[in-house]
Amino acid sequence: MSSPKSSGINNEQNAQYLQAMGIQSWALRAQPLTNVVEEAVEGVVEDTVSLVTENAVSAEVAEVMVDAAEHGVTPATSDVDVTVDVSQLDWPALQSMVSSCTACALHESRTNTVFGVGDHQAQVMVIGEAPGADEDQQGEPFVGPAGQLLNNMLLAIGYKREQVYIANILKCRPPGNRDPQPEEVSQCESYLQRQIAMVKPKVILAVGRIAAHNLMKVETPIGKMRGKQYQYGDTPVVVTYHPAYLLRKPSEKAKSWDDLRLAMSIIHAADESKTNKDTS
Ligand code: SF4
Repeated sequence: MSSPKSSGINNEQNAQYLQAMGIQSWALRAQPLTNVVEEAVEGVVEDTVSLVTENAVSAEVAEVMVDAAEHGVTPATSDVDVTVDVSQLDWPALQSMVSSCTACALHESRTNTVFGVGDHQAQVMVIGEAPGADEDQQGEPFVGPAGQLLNNMLLAIGYKREQVYIANILKCRPPGNRDPQPEEVSQCESYLQRQIAMVKPKVILAVGRIAAHNLMKVETPIGKMRGKQYQYGDTPVVVTYHPAYLLRKPSEKAKSWDDLRLAMSIIHAADESKTNKDTS
């Protein structure tokens, strides 16, 4: 584990960010970052409906799942599980498989699966815990007030929501928002692993205790995890507080801001390293 030497954020930006953090809102008020926002790539989210793929296995699986969904049935385990290597699925096939997944009991009480949203080539991947009531209804992660705060936090470091990829440890809502059970995490893990492998983010932002613990396979209190760089395979991980917690305890926003700066410094360090390699 190591800490980058430079944040890559100049003093002017720093003051602007701190202002955004200190006024009890992550809303961006400084002009320079507006440029970043305005440069957001239109149409960056790939068409996840298309089943065109070069991967024959993926296409076959997708066909099974979509056909099943269209006919309102859950495919038999033998239709998919024996042939599916989740690590080989493409985006459409993976999403189709998740939408029909019955691997753990949470499928019985869900309204929608919550697959994930965002840029498939994002530099930053945000990983949260599991869908809540709003997410379960809408089929999208981080909606509602916590989602709005997350959006503002991301804007404060120069990213629109559409420019990151957002997913959860679990794709289905645990009843009553209880903590995920280990067996549920275990059953759902391969989907997230595949998402991370396809996005290839420069940094993962693990938000909240559940995300941090299940990603890093530790039980260290989140207060002791934040401020450090972890690794998930080859991907750096930064741990920070969940936006829902920050809404309850705004005084912790300053620490969360430090975490975001750490995440940005990791991206800048990776970019500098690549530039140096390209020019040497
Ligand atoms: S939580 Fe994950 S493993 Fe369980 S049913 Fe939903 S998608 Fe499948």
